[in-house]
Amino acid sequence: MHCAQAGKSLIKFNHCEKSIYSFSVPQCCPLCHQDVGSRKLEEAPVSISNPFTNGHQEKCSFLLRPTQGTFLREYDGRSDLHVGITNTKGVVYNYNVHGVQRDEAGWEQSLSIPLLQPNMFGLMDQWDRYLEDFSTTGTWLPHRYEEDHHNCYSYTLTFINCILTMEGREQLDKSEFTEKYVVPRTRLASKYITLYRAIEEHGFYVTDRPDRETGPA
Ligand SMILES: [Zn+2]
Repeated sequence: MHCAQAGKSLIKFNHCEKSIYSFSVPQCCPLCHQDVGSRKLEEAPVSISNPFTNGHQEKCSFLLRPTQGTFLREYDGRSDLHVGITNTKGVVYNYNVHGVQRDEAGWEQSLSIPLLQPNMFGLMDQWDRYLEDFSTTGTWLPHRYEEDHHNCYSYTLTFINCILTMEGREQLDKSEFTEKYVVPRTRLASKYITLYRAIEEHGFYVTDRPDRETGPA
């Protein structure tokens, strides 16, 4: 659960009719300074799931991370994102101005989306070869790179479409891809980042409790 590079884990507990987020349950409530030790079951702390994972531990997945820096430190909601695909050994294939990169480090704090449907695990046996063969075609030579039209997104989307075709599913165009794979994750990440930074700065973060339904959990 606790992974330094993916950030500290967060918890939420209830006190003073509020939801209080923190890195750990304090002795005293930061609002009323009363002991929070003896609490009702509904006040028991819950952990908030961290949206980030170490991409090098994810197999056959699509990964997102800021081009510069990390999500928790530098991401501001508009920062450029870089994307890649992992093989079965956690090597992250990604395309940039220098051609296809095979990163064994640098994606420790990523958003990750698995690309294989549970019923398609047969594909996993060939995944590494597909990804390697795909990456060595002339399409992804360094001189073909164009910042806006032939970039890391083109590379991952083209590969994902090859996989979808093999699975007998429909291909995605760029906007469907962004809506389905990118926006929901970055939105979730942004919420978490806001919470995380506020806790780092103030030690805790407080919200009203009337809406108990979702939250970032
Ligand atoms: Zn309190």
